[in-house]
Amino acid sequence: MPLFICEKCGAIENTALGHYWCREYFKFKDASLNNKALCSECAPLEFDDGQKTGNNGKWHGRFKKEFFDKSKDDAELFMNGKAYLMLKAGISGEDLVDDTKDDLL
Ligand SMILES: [Zn+2]
Repeated sequence: MPLFICEKCGAIENTALGHYWCREYFKFKDASLNNKALCSECAPLEFDDGQKTGNNGKWHGRFKKEFFDKSKDDAELFMNGKAYLMLKAGISGEDLVDDTKDDLL
């Protein structure tokens, strides 16, 4: 389960459930959210042209919303230049995707 930290609220989110992979391709009405990795709750509701994004401003509920806590979370890696981590409990290194390898090819 690849994880990232929401750049707006600090929640730990799954890359498949939040606004992560396509963040560099869309522009939003709130331009301050452009290019940011955002959790499902912080994902913008409207594109810059006013069309709805399909996000509803709510946490997806697939797992409990938890926030990054430096004092508790001890593993860290970098994806796309941002700090990402896995929680100590229940997530193995095999669950993480290191997409920085693409840059080395
Ligand atoms: Zn968030």
